[in-house]
Amino acid sequence: MRRLLFAANWKMHLGPADARGYLDAFLPSYAPHADREVWFFPPAVSLEAVARAIAGRPDLRAGIQDVHWEPKGAFTGAVAVPLAAQAGARAALVGHSERRHVFGETDAETARKVRAVLGGQLAPVLCVGETLAEREGRTTIEVVRRQLGAGLDGLDGGTLDRVVIAYEPVWAIGTGRNATPQDAAVVHREIREWLSKRGAGVTRVLYGGSVNLKNIDELLRERELDGVLVGGASLDPDGWAQLVSTREL
Ligand code: PEP
Repeated sequence: MRRLLFAANWKMHLGPADARGYLDAFLPSYAPHADREVWFFPPAVSLEAVARAIAGRPDLRAGIQDVHWEPKGAFTGAVAVPLAAQAGARAALVGHSERRHVFGETDAETARKVRAVLGGQLAPVLCVGETLAEREGRTTIEVVRRQLGAGLDGLDGGTLDRVVIAYEPVWAIGTGRNATPQDAAVVHREIREWLSKRGAGVTRVLYGGSVNLKNIDELLRERELDGVLVGGASLDPDGWAQLVSTREL
């Protein structure tokens, strides 16, 4: 059984003290649910604070928003996988659309990061998704297949099962305009087919892009979605506790 996964991407918000305050509010209002996990991706400086606050809650996990592929060295400003792990990370976002489109990260760099994350025994959350121009040009599936191929090529089924895929159409991130559950499901099915052809069986496929309290019910009713990756709506601890409690058993 694939457990539902709710992932919070805090982007460049919530420093260590804010993160502790957030979890002081969140933890008492969210008891573990057997069918789901909640992962937090704080800024790197807040990773240790988050990891400490959630210690003892196996349903919760801390992760890093980006990594460098080298394990150490002269890469000013970058964070290596072993350093993130030492701070408490057990997962890493890779290829988030802001890394690709704001910072110019290439498919080749994304591939190196996925391997570094797997090598460090963290769970990679590989983000894929098309721009508005690509959607309008009807190349969504082509783009997503290319990103999957670049990021995951050569990995066997068992390894692919350790990866999480987040389908995040670029035009839906931070815009207030989410994909419909039906549109997301079309892409999710393609992703699942791509994975199963390579022997994967339980890889989780999340949807991300303007998910909030108003649309989460409808999105999760679509069984192709194994969960969601959420930016803006994850920043308020009370709202997030409510969102991650959606679709009770
Ligand atoms: C994201 O950062 O991955 C994201 C989906 O952001 P938002 O929920 O704000 O669209």
